[in-house]
Amino acid sequence: MAQSGMDTDVVIAGAGPTGLMLACELRLAGVDVVVVDRLARRTGESRAGGLHSRTLEVLNQRGILERFLAEGELQPVGHFSGLYLEFDESESRHPFPLMILQSSVERLLEERAAELGVRVRRSAEVSGVRQDVSGVTVDLNSGAASGRLRARYLVGCDGGRSTVRRLSGIEFPGTPATMTALIGDVELPDLPEDYVWVRRFPSGDFSAIAFEPGWYRVITSDYEQVPDRDDPPTFEQLRESLIKLAGTDYGMHSPRWVSRFSDAARQAARYRDGRVLLAGDAAHIHFPAGGQGLNMGVQDAVNLGWKLAAVLRGEVPESLLDTYHAERHPVAERVLENTRAQSALARPGPQTDALRGVFGSLLVYDAVNRHLRGMLTALDIRYPVDGNHPLEGRRVPDADLETSGDATSVHQLLHAGRPVLLVLCGNDKIVATAEDWADRVDLVDARTVDELWPVPLVGDIDAPAALLIRPDGHVAWAADDAGSPGFASLRSALASWFGPARSR
Ligand SMILES: Cc1cc2nc3c(=O)[nH]c(=O)nc-3n(C[C@H](O)[C@H](O)[C@H](O)COP(=O)(O)OP(=O)(O)OC[C@H]3O[C@@H](n4cnc5c(N)ncnc54)[C@H](O)[C@@H]3O)c2cc1C
Repeated sequence: MAQSGMDTDVVIAGAGPTGLMLACELRLAGVDVVVVDRLARRTGESRAGGLHSRTLEVLNQRGILERFLAEGELQPVGHFSGLYLEFDESESRHPFPLMILQSSVERLLEERAAELGVRVRRSAEVSGVRQDVSGVTVDLNSGAASGRLRARYLVGCDGGRSTVRRLSGIEFPGTPATMTALIGDVELPDLPEDYVWVRRFPSGDFSAIAFEPGWYRVITSDYEQVPDRDDPPTFEQLRESLIKLAGTDYGMHSPRWVSRFSDAARQAARYRDGRVLLAGDAAHIHFPAGGQGLNMGVQDAVNLGWKLAAVLRGEVPESLLDTYHAERHPVAERVLENTRAQSALARPGPQTDALRGVFGSLLVYDAVNRHLRGMLTALDIRYPVDGNHPLEGRRVPDADLETSGDATSVHQLLHAGRPVLLVLCGNDKIVATAEDWADRVDLVDARTVDELWPVPLVGDIDAPAALLIRPDGHVAWAADDAGSPGFASLRSALASWFGPARSR
């Protein structure tokens, strides 16, 4: 139920993957939310082709991963600028990328949002944003009619050309496009192979992958042109671009979808302006190499959702929202950098061919693979922390547990989207401390099945004695034994992330 004078607690602009995931997170936390999208219906455009390990874990943390696994296909390898990377099964319960089309991801998230009671209003385009001390007024163009929604917060998940970002005066600095790529889902009857993987030519490259029986995803990259944003991409342009590169169109016909992208890389200077926040492509755009954009948007949503819900419930000061920028801005900054590097490695020419040769030869080393894999999968993210424990700031490993004789795992404890204080050593002091936050933090007493927990890029570490896990799966506090100095800081960690102790 929204506060009086408000139509809802939060308006989310954009029903793409970021907006839908955020809506699910907020509803799960009991927040009233309305998602508005300018489109009358989902486009069904295939767009992104995969989900990485950390996103699969995030979906598993909410108990909805099986739905996605049922519609996709796991693949054992990934790539960095087209150079193969290997994945390591010891780093995650879900180590491999899942090939699944964005259209399926959006449908599954929208179904989940409907189950949770999210209202999605379509044909409603955000056209005005005004904020004051108590809320935000959002003007909507809805065809002939226009409307207005008043909410306590607005989150712009409205894509790379975000209106919310523009109307809020948030700068979007970065680097402009230096190439243009066309992408299409088409039939290619004359292509003899099931896939062509980054075939390089003097002016660019092309790839074609048989995505589903009967059709291919074709991508052509042209380094002699930059895109004209006002000229809509066409099937004919895709055909011509393939002929320019490969000398044939392989009998291309029956396009399902054609689009264009580039290596432009930009990032919002601020993810928050008072009561307005940005997430997903509205906050960052980049070359889609390595398939990181959708993944990052979903993870932005999971970082922001619980914080915004806690602020709306009045449990924590509004300043908690600044940790969203502090934690997520550097993540996207690094992705922009790695995609710029991938774009540089993809440029045509003998010098780049040589660079690719050297870079490819480095990939035989496990440490190099591990480093790049950690970046692409986002399993290596460590948010800034005060503490010293190797788990603090990182995503918690999904270790097997036993609670009162029942088998469970750490990520399963997060299905409700609530913080968890997980005690693996039966310590009375912790149990007494937890009592003061019992209304907000779930105390779980368990036994770990594995004595060693794998931490990507760090290696195996001893299972901790106790740890405080945020709803997004990142560790707010951990300690190895009751005598360790970190033990004393549990109260301050609880207070800074989840608000003051309750008075009893
Ligand atoms: C060729 C290609 C391949 C890709 N492959 C991958 C991949 O494999 N893996 C990966 O992680 N990412 C990939 N990406 C990136 C991915 O597609 C995007 O990062 C993702 O769509 C971002 O999701 P979003 O919800 O933030 O924004 P969007 O998907 O752009 O959704 C924004 C929504 O906002 C709505 N909207 C816009 N303006 C308004 C307004 N004023 N009012 C109301 N609604 C509005 C739009 O209609 C849209 O529904 C790829 C991208 C491209 C181009």
